[in-house]
Amino acid sequence: MEFGNYINGDSFLKVRQKLILAIHRFKLLISCCTLCGNACQQHQLLCQFCQDDLPYFKRDLVGFDLLLWPAINQVLPKAQFDHLLCLGPYQWPFALWINQLKYQGQTELSGLLAYLLSQHWNNYLTEQKQRPASENILVVSVPLHIKKWQSRGFNQAHLIAKHFADQFNYPYQPELLIRDKATHSQVGQSGVQRRKNLAQAFIINPSNKEIHADHVVLIDDVVTTGTTANEICKLLKKRGVQKITLLSICLALPS
Ligand SMILES: [Zn+2]
Repeated sequence: MEFGNYINGDSFLKVRQKLILAIHRFKLLISCCTLCGNACQQHQLLCQFCQDDLPYFKRDLVGFDLLLWPAINQVLPKAQFDHLLCLGPYQWPFALWINQLKYQGQTELSGLLAYLLSQHWNNYLTEQKQRPASENILVVSVPLHIKKWQSRGFNQAHLIAKHFADQFNYPYQPELLIRDKATHSQVGQSGVQRRKNLAQAFIINPSNKEIHADHVVLIDDVVTTGTTANEICKLLKKRGVQKITLLSICLALPS
């Protein structure tokens, strides 16, 4: 008998697998929900009760694609992206998690947000009856300017996109887009001001000769006027991308 081949009838790999599963279950048992403190079942930071209670958009009425919602389509009339998927409005607890991630450096929350996005995406694909492998999908994230990246130490959209792409084994190109121009904060600006602010703010990395994708999934944390995504989508479409889905945690429409 080969070394480590059998342990009480189980193969070594089987025993190892069982141990990993037991450790994972133990971790879930001792991990507490970030919202209520209860033990977690599916994700280390969120219990099933709180997850079921999240303020998702009610997609059973119109479906997942928010561009098909008349009220949203009306305020985003010049969207350059083909589909818009967001978990919910910019409110608690999504807003809390995004703030804790961005401004308090709680980077572990990127895993939770990506987990929720992945479930949303999976449900969307099921609704579309489309298997992930049927399209040539590429994941990209909205980049930060190098100065902002240096001061924050990370790009929250990149962290979320990386976890998301890993879940589905999609190729992810974090270097595809470059934010070439340091822009002022977008908060409180009108659509016209945002467009001026963001004009030619992005470029495609010159080392990328071709983009090998029919469908780009562009990931951001919050969508407000869609101006940032529009600037990026124009660049991607000029380079031959057929379809772009903007996938974001929150939608915070300007009042
Ligand atoms: Zn909970």
